[in-house]
Amino acid sequence: MQGIETATSPTPLDPDSVAAFAADLAARLSAETDNRHQGMPSDAESRAAYAAYGQAGLIGLHWAGKHGGRELHPRDTDALEETFGYHWLPLSGYLLSVKTIGNALRRFAEPALADALLPRISAGEMLFCQGFSEPEAGSDLASLRTRAVRDGDHFVVTGRKIWTSSAEYADWCYLAVRTDPDPATPRHRGISVLVCDMKTPGIQVGTHPTLGGGTLGELTLDEVRIPADQLVGELHGGWGLLMGTLDYERVTSEKVGIARRVLDELTPHARGSADRLALLRLGGEVQACRAIGARATALLAAGQSASEASSMAKLSISYLLQRIARTAAGILGPQLFIEQGPDAVFDGRLAAFHRATVATTIAGGASDIQRRVIARRGLLC
Ligand SMILES: Cc1cc2nc3c(=O)[nH]c(=O)nc-3n(C[C@H](O)[C@H](O)[C@H](O)COP(=O)(O)OP(=O)(O)OC[C@H]3O[C@@H](n4cnc5c(N)ncnc54)[C@H](O)[C@@H]3O)c2cc1C
Repeated sequence: MQGIETATSPTPLDPDSVAAFAADLAARLSAETDNRHQGMPSDAESRAAYAAYGQAGLIGLHWAGKHGGRELHPRDTDALEETFGYHWLPLSGYLLSVKTIGNALRRFAEPALADALLPRISAGEMLFCQGFSEPEAGSDLASLRTRAVRDGDHFVVTGRKIWTSSAEYADWCYLAVRTDPDPATPRHRGISVLVCDMKTPGIQVGTHPTLGGGTLGELTLDEVRIPADQLVGELHGGWGLLMGTLDYERVTSEKVGIARRVLDELTPHARGSADRLALLRLGGEVQACRAIGARATALLAAGQSASEASSMAKLSISYLLQRIARTAAGILGPQLFIEQGPDAVFDGRLAAFHRATVATTIAGGASDIQRRVIARRGLLC
């Protein structure tokens, strides 16, 4: 596939070209039935789509030219991701590798490590998964137990990770590990972040089906030897990295696009003024969510603290998607659940979407945790 503009151009992308690219790719991917039945595009996966984003020069728009970026503003990347979401493109690997981990590597990794990884990400060749959550460490991430022991010029990692999106597709993993097991060390202090090739001996990947129609991964790590120069940031200083990484993950512009698309698909089915008013109100709230996300992006771009703004962005759009799903059920009734045939609305995608919205208030950090971040960082209570 051709790039849609000359790489390194500082000129913002033409939104119509991006939309045309997204519509064309969505049409070509429609034969991939796995994606069609994943209810939330941000959780759907396709290596072909990821490669196409890279080949079109659309990964890392605001990254440096040497990393394969175009040196645009992060708000251009937000706009692109909203367009991708609107066109229902599979985005899980993109969001992990680019929006979340790629941005974190730019900010936290040693230059040599960033220079080695980012060009492969922007080319659409290197897909990451994110190994944070464990059976006893989801909301309480500081209690993670996967341990990394230094052995010469390697770390030896043993433990278990769950809910690892895209694990079965990923080339590399961005892994949170405990490097200081001393119980006297405060839990937040003994954590580090490593990156590793998923083909490293000792890594096993399992998968579990999800309500939305896709899978979530589970990693078993058995004495996995990871080169010490694949440490991201400071030894034992991983807590700040994890929080900074989540700040990027929680600005979910693609979900603004997903919300807009569902409202557009529902509009012809509105049965009267009450339905139309409900859709218009939700449309207004989508705009508000976009503005909240833009505030977080501006803070991140300025290198300022963005945790409270990012949590607000995530909290607002995740609840809004659930309300949109309920409104869709109210307007369509049982027709919402028709997944095939001439009566299926939006090619039958809304049933899986309705189921998948259950996870929007959990993935990326449960809503209670977002409220805590907003209270502590934003309201200082
Ligand atoms: C679709 C999806 C994709 C995911 N992808 C990934 C991924 O790629 N990588 C990864 O590492 N993880 C991933 N996760 C895991 C996700 O980050 C966790 O599910 C989330 O952080 C919640 O953790 P938990 O499931 O252990 O729930 P718990 O932490 O056990 O929470 C259970 C309930 O208790 C509440 N609760 C917990 N602590 C508090 C508190 N202190 N105050 C108030 N309420 C509290 C929570 O809000 C929640 O309602 C994914 C999850 C989903 C659903």
